[in-house]
Amino acid sequence: MPEKTPAAGAKTAKPTAVIAGDTFAAAPRRDPELVRRILDDPRMHDHKEGFLSCIQCGVCTSGCPAARFTDFVPREVARRALEGDETLLTDDSVWYCYSCYTCQSRCPRHNSVAVINQVVRSMQVESGYGHKHVEMFAEWCGNFYEKGMGGNPHDMFPVVYEAWGEQWRHFMAHLLEIRAELGLGDLFPPTDVVKEVQVIFEETGFLDRLRQVREGADGGAAEPVESEAAE
Ligand code: SF4
Ligand code: SF4
Repeated sequence: MPEKTPAAGAKTAKPTAVIAGDTFAAAPRRDPELVRRILDDPRMHDHKEGFLSCIQCGVCTSGCPAARFTDFVPREVARRALEGDETLLTDDSVWYCYSCYTCQSRCPRHNSVAVINQVVRSMQVESGYGHKHVEMFAEWCGNFYEKGMGGNPHDMFPVVYEAWGEQWRHFMAHLLEIRAELGLGDLFPPTDVVKEVQVIFEETGFLDRLRQVREGADGGAAEPVESEAAE
């Protein structure tokens, strides 16, 4: 008697084999190089042992304010980082962390999900994936490079005038006079200090990163960051 041909969609393997097959097919790629990059990051200096000895207790998640209101799970981030799970590099949830360091202060192994997040975010920005999360800060960083101070109150606070009223408007209109009267000096740091800031930006690669983010945000049409102070 000829064997019956299974109907389309019929299960022909043991259920356990199907489950195992699906599990492995969906498993993220494990990259030992990713683990090494996280471990070698200078920010992990005080947390190497903790990172390698995470016991998955979940204390980090239980105290994390971001985890309470989002789908971000610190314990999972610790595990996936230790496994070299490449999906971390395209996981937007790590951007919900706002570096309060509660997880770090409570971890019984002295691991730091706060720092792991920072390292993973850097990788996301480096690859271009994370640009969408930082492009809103590009102007602030550009100001910091050019003037040694990120936020110029004259640019930032017009929107606050309406809420804070006439007294604030007067204060901003006479800001420099008031500072002079109080002996506070110029609003911006002196040129030699700005140049030091610029050297840090340049030597650490931050300026290149800022250009990449700006170009991404402007579709490649961004002007390079220029320094008035360096001229
Ligand atoms: S608190 Fe520390 S040991 Fe516990 S799961 Fe989080 S990172 Fe791992
Ligand atoms: S530093 Fe980030 S991950 Fe850690 S508790 Fe605070 S919000 Fe959560």
